[in-house]
Amino acid sequence: MKTALLLSGGMDSLCIAWWKRPEVAITIDYGQLPASAEVVAAGAVCKALDIEHHVIRVDCRALGSGDMAGAVANPNAPASDWWPYRNQLLATLAAMKAISLGVNRLLLGTVRSDGSHKDGTPEFVEALSTLLSMQEGAMSVESPAIHLSTVELTRISGVPFGQLAWAHSCHKANVACGDCRGCNKYIQTLQELEDDLDGSWQSGSAN
Ligand SMILES: [Zn+2]
Repeated sequence: MKTALLLSGGMDSLCIAWWKRPEVAITIDYGQLPASAEVVAAGAVCKALDIEHHVIRVDCRALGSGDMAGAVANPNAPASDWWPYRNQLLATLAAMKAISLGVNRLLLGTVRSDGSHKDGTPEFVEALSTLLSMQEGAMSVESPAIHLSTVELTRISGVPFGQLAWAHSCHKANVACGDCRGCNKYIQTLQELEDDLDGSWQSGSAN
């Protein structure tokens, strides 16, 4: 089974790269404001882990909403960074590339807190997997960290603390704004990790 990871370069997908070591990682510039920084962050982790990295560019900015598109949030938005149908768009684009590489399992970096929007729930991932696996190529979709918090995922992944610094989590810009949901989550996660940092985690590496 050949596995690809949809790698945004944020903390969650970066940790999954360290944890699951997929053969392939796919990063998508879909017109989101922090795309350049995400591509750099994703490239750095792939280099560190010797993962084959592919970047896809499809500009969907005009169809976006909220923080990541620099637009007014759609009235249906459950959170300021919600982008309509984003996760099925990204999974589809990643699968379109992945199938050409012989991949039959696609990993998403969803974590428990993403359940605040429907496309971050276990039911959504299951439905997506059913949809893709019934089509030619029979690709399955999995979110191995969907029941974990970002802190729990970080610990399980064995990612070295220094590598986390590469993560780009800001939703609004290529240079962290320090004041969006993505930046707040990043800062909060580092603080929680620092609070109970122990030797085993500090030296933790999956190597
Ligand atoms: Zn930010």
